[in-house]
Amino acid sequence: MDYKKLREEMVKKQLIPRGINDRKILDAFLKVERERFVPLSSRRDAYRDFPLSIGEGQTISQPYMVALMTQCLELTGSEKVLEIGTGSGYQTAILALLSRQVYSVERIPSLAERAKKLLSEMGYSNVRIFVGDGSMGLKEYSPYERILVTAGAGDIPPPLIEQLDEEGIMVIPVGDVYSQELIVAKKQKGKILKRKVERCVFVPLIGKYGWEGRID
Ligand code: SAM
Repeated sequence: MDYKKLREEMVKKQLIPRGINDRKILDAFLKVERERFVPLSSRRDAYRDFPLSIGEGQTISQPYMVALMTQCLELTGSEKVLEIGTGSGYQTAILALLSRQVYSVERIPSLAERAKKLLSEMGYSNVRIFVGDGSMGLKEYSPYERILVTAGAGDIPPPLIEQLDEEGIMVIPVGDVYSQELIVAKKQKGKILKRKVERCVFVPLIGKYGWEGRID
């Protein structure tokens, strides 16, 4: 399969027409080999316009959703970013190309291990992956200039608000377990200003400040 051509088509047909217009983001999508982040049996669908299963009941998000969340982060290249929900590591790779350092937390050890190995093989040296409950953030390296949550929460976990730097931006799906609204939250003078972007459907954020005990 000509994956390079599939990548170009994905950018042209799925991202640009829906308002993803930042050249650096589009270039990152042209560069990252998404087929390496999906199971072998789904490689032919790697560039299709929908999420795919990656095992353990989890998904790699639809390319457009990864691009939209990335664009909402307004990255300039100098940021320290916290990602909650490593999953396949695809979004992590996109963030690594567009920021200074990425810390990513995944609660399922097998997914974290697989993503860590793949990202290291692919030469991403500004990524660190941790196993744990990301609803509590990753206090050790805080504050973060950007935080991206790639699983749906009932509300913004308070530790993530604390660990977001002043003038920082957080992108997070918030709603119920079945559907959410993508929220962009900016921290200004200690206060959180929220803006709704669009409706979305993510797997649930499990954990102390997620849906602990109610699902799984
Ligand atoms: N961005 C990922 C990608 O590109 O493949 C997709 C992430 S998937 C939609 C959401 C991930 O969040 C799953 O891998 C899930 O295990 C993880 N997750 C859910 N709750 C979590 C928590 N409390 N801490 C860390 N990861 C969590």
